[in-house]
Amino acid sequence: MSRSFDVSLDALAPRYMPLTAGKPSVFDPDVGRGTFFIETFGCQMNDHDSEKVAGVLLARGYRQVETPEAARLVFYNTCSIREKAAQKVFSRLGLWREAQAEGKIIGLLGCVAQQEGEEIFERAPWVSLVCGSASYRKLPELLAELEAGNRRVTGLETDTDETFETEMTRRDNPWRAYLTIIEGCDKACSYCVVPYTRGPERSRASASILKEVRQLAELGYTEVQLLGQTVNSYKDPTSRRLSFAELLVAVAEVPGIRRVRFTTSHPSDFGPEIVQAIDAHPALCDHVHLPVQSGSSRVLRAMQRTYTREKYLEKIALIRGARRPISITTDFIVGFPGETEADFEDTLSLMEAVQYDGAFSFKYSPRPNTPAVLMADAIPEEEKGRRLAVLQEKQRGIQTARNVALVGQTMEVLVEGKSRRESQWAGHTSSNRVLNFVSRAENLLGQYVQVRVASAGPNSLVGEHVG
Ligand code: SAM
Ligand code: SF4
Repeated sequence: MSRSFDVSLDALAPRYMPLTAGKPSVFDPDVGRGTFFIETFGCQMNDHDSEKVAGVLLARGYRQVETPEAARLVFYNTCSIREKAAQKVFSRLGLWREAQAEGKIIGLLGCVAQQEGEEIFERAPWVSLVCGSASYRKLPELLAELEAGNRRVTGLETDTDETFETEMTRRDNPWRAYLTIIEGCDKACSYCVVPYTRGPERSRASASILKEVRQLAELGYTEVQLLGQTVNSYKDPTSRRLSFAELLVAVAEVPGIRRVRFTTSHPSDFGPEIVQAIDAHPALCDHVHLPVQSGSSRVLRAMQRTYTREKYLEKIALIRGARRPISITTDFIVGFPGETEADFEDTLSLMEAVQYDGAFSFKYSPRPNTPAVLMADAIPEEEKGRRLAVLQEKQRGIQTARNVALVGQTMEVLVEGKSRRESQWAGHTSSNRVLNFVSRAENLLGQYVQVRVASAGPNSLVGEHVG
């Protein structure tokens, strides 16, 4: 869901969060040498990885700058879930052919780096660092090698059993703090590169997660979002053996934390205990993102999604059976190889049955190394585009109706932005809807306020401050 307001610059001042009393390196940056720029393409996990990479660099004495031109180190962190993101990063790299002559160091991080590996040096010989997300633990070492004058360094292992924890994370969002609790993925969806690029599933120790949440609360954060490709597959590797639902409760009980979100849940690992936890703890937000991908059991089997349409609908029934309304959002892929018109109709009918509050929908994009790339009956791009448009139009109607049904209700909003226009504010509800509202009050940023919904569109609500 996109933001439809301007966030004030003051509000976006970054917060630096030392996680341990780690010492910065002895590297002494001289002017212009110790600067870095990082641009991120992709999902929240990628955004948060960049926050952690920035933390590693800051701890080594580097300074972050706003433009690649002003930086000595230029990093691109990209996902390769769909081909477009991968193409974009190669066009960015193309800008820096003369980089070494200009004294710049160019690095490629993330899934594309993992996927292309050392071939990047062939394709773009001016690149100096290639590091996949499963190897970020090695970043300090790789940086030390660069500082020592080495011009080709790589971190491309995926078999690490460590998660990426940093001494310091530089957080871009002043209201919502992201925390990775599980990295990699052990599922094997036939269209997806994540198991290849991010490696096997590794859960972070519950004590380490809770320590970071307490530190975030001390810094003034009231909202945290737990991240993982399959966040609800979390398995505490320590003797405490907290289940995912128990971890949610423990995070919700940290003093000062008022909102806890989590994404992305895999339907196969979604059980009633998660709904019970949400019901019992008001700090657990009333929103679940539960990607379905397709409404056809036949396509789900070909996608190796490990559930059928009926099983998925049982999970939806669990959520709808909660004592408080929980908003549900999802992801769809259209045009998977062999998807017939009847399969696509099944997706539309599932959408109708579930009545999602939001959906991300994508045209299937064939990815290297995935089983689906070898499947017959590719759907022509034009037909994928048609199905996507039909799906999105239908979802728009559902979203509008669901938002309009909220008119007249009063909701709590965490205020995250102020418009340039006088008295216009915006924030998110617990259900993750954007609510724009009018208030004459001052200094509302970061506050929780009550707002009555006066009107609604497909992507946001409009209301007035009532207390
Ligand atoms: N792990 C999550 C899950 O299982 O739902 C989502 C991971 S992925 C970063 C986010 C979304 O990208 C997926 O839910 C899927 O809809 C989409 N996606 C992944 N691979 C894709 C592909 N090859 N083509 C199109 N969309 C894709
Ligand atoms: Fe990819 Fe499937 Fe793992 Fe999600 S669960 S990251 S879609 S393999």
